Amino acid sequence: MADTVNTLPFFYGNITREEAEDYLRQVGMSNGLYLLRQSRNYLGGFALSVSYSGRCYHYTIEREPNESYAIAGGKSHRNPVDVIDYHSQEMDGLVCLLKKPCNRPKNMQPKVGPFEDLKEKLIREYVKQTWNLQGAALEQAIISQRPQLEKLIATTAHEKMPWFHGTITREDSETRLQNGARTNGKFLIRQRDMNGSYALCLLHEGQVMHYRIDRDRTCKLSIPDGKKFDTLWQLVEHYSYKPDGLLRVLTDPCPRPDGVIGKRCKSSPPHLTGLEKGNEDTAMPMDTEVYESPYADPDELRSSTVDRKQLFLEDGELGSGNFGTVMKGIYKMRKTEKPVAVKILKNDDNNPSVREEMLREANVMQQLDNPYIVRMIGICEAENLMLVMELAELGPLNKFLQKNKQTGIKNITELVHQVSMGMKYLEEHNFVHRDLAARNVLLVTQHYAKISDFGLSKAVAEEQNYYKAKGHGKWPVKWYAPECINYFKFSSKSDVWSFGVLMWEAFSFGQKPYKGMKGNDVMQMIEGGRRMDAPLNCPEEMYDLMRTCWTYKADERPGFKVVEPRLREYYYDIAQ
Ligand code: AMP
Repeated sequence: MADTVNTLPFFYGNITREEAEDYLRQVGMSNGLYLLRQSRNYLGGFALSVSYSGRCYHYTIEREPNESYAIAGGKSHRNPVDVIDYHSQEMDGLVCLLKKPCNRPKNMQPKVGPFEDLKEKLIREYVKQTWNLQGAALEQAIISQRPQLEKLIATTAHEKMPWFHGTITREDSETRLQNGARTNGKFLIRQRDMNGSYALCLLHEGQVMHYRIDRDRTCKLSIPDGKKFDTLWQLVEHYSYKPDGLLRVLTDPCPRPDGVIGKRCKSSPPHLTGLEKGNEDTAMPMDTEVYESPYADPDELRSSTVDRKQLFLEDGELGSGNFGTVMKGIYKMRKTEKPVAVKILKNDDNNPSVREEMLREANVMQQLDNPYIVRMIGICEAENLMLVMELAELGPLNKFLQKNKQTGIKNITELVHQVSMGMKYLEEHNFVHRDLAARNVLLVTQHYAKISDFGLSKAVAEEQNYYKAKGHGKWPVKWYAPECINYFKFSSKSDVWSFGVLMWEAFSFGQKPYKGMKGNDVMQMIEGGRRMDAPLNCPEEMYDLMRTCWTYKADERPGFKVVEPRLREYYYDIAQ
């Protein structure tokens, strides 16, 4: 596909969003002027940049598993050109019709990103080996942490490569290359010192050649007088297809005798106390104990009940509600001990409905398994009814942001994107949350958010896809879409409305939405077509997305299937 697209005069290759905007500007930014570029975040995907009303809009064209192409959530087409042809006739969610291609300046070729495919393979391999993940857990890890993983890969991927032998001596490298098959071009890289100097050792006609690889002042790596590279793996890739001064091209990597690839150690949440830890800044969701379900380990028996004898409550409350309190505890499993949060129902014989409510919440949670949703570990029926959950020690997002005003936009976007991933999962599994708000997003670390509080959640039928409440309850009206208030109708689309409010809360550092207003005034404001203003310093793209979440009619409002990729694209753009 890339080859066909490469010949299109309006395809610019691997350029950034900013560069795309510059090109559109140079040609006059007329309404419907567009160009196509390579997606910098989706392997094999594209991005469409369109100008309208003096602004630029960017849409990702994803490559779907069946090799078709679509703007996230939209109609599928055979190739990106068909997507463009279609949107020249139909707006179908775009800001305007595509009117005129913005062609590349004369003599400019599409910009090439040479290591895209290789990088993708390496990221996948790295995540698989480092955190021992597979399937959905692997995909979700890559989606949520791509910018961090790309950086990690660029700087440390060589350590994972079979041809990297660490700090061995010149003599050892020769022994290793002479061992086993003595293919011409067999090679390894050893580390010469800790200042970034390496040696490329290459077998040629039975002899080992040693090429020094040094770092220059700008940190670029090269063999003397050779081409410069940011990373060792790019260097190896280059000399594997071109001798470029070496005696021959690199062919077979000489495998490390140990073959062992180190597992990154998992840091456990109870030892990570918020911002105090230096490594907190680099910890990824997969580094914590709550990325995968404890039952993902086949040696741990899955059970919805927790034995009281295995549960140890600690002093100190994590929080409280009208049901009782939430305490910290330790749950002793077969192989490990898990830090947990325990929701303890207060003994109140007068109020059986609270007990039922808690059991309903447990029933919903038990059916969900996603890294961005607080998992239930089990129910414990003892001196009180207890709901044992994964611990998210840094607590509610709104409170965290109120206390940590220095949190960066990138960090907030990362967290909000994770929430959208959890919500996309709920949407796919036909659950509506009905109480999505920043207070119900709990933080495991500063870079890891989980959706919690499923007290109001409902499973909905796939065909009907909404839940009809019997009457008005104690509702979080400021988070509710018009159809919830007017018709008691709840769906993933109404969760999207709440998500818009949650975004507003996050980008305003935990402020209360519609400050000082009564529920009725808020409803009037919404019915009158007015919406909250953008939070101070909120990125335009993010406020645009909030406004889209606050589309009046549920049918015209996007689902999380569309919201998540939009957040993802913006997050990657600012994180790179
Ligand atoms: P809830 O009624 O479920 O919103 O819980 C009340 C409060 O308890 C929350 O606002 C949190 O501060 C705390 N809490 C609830 N669940 C957890 C958890 N899984 N990990 C840590 N704290 C929690």
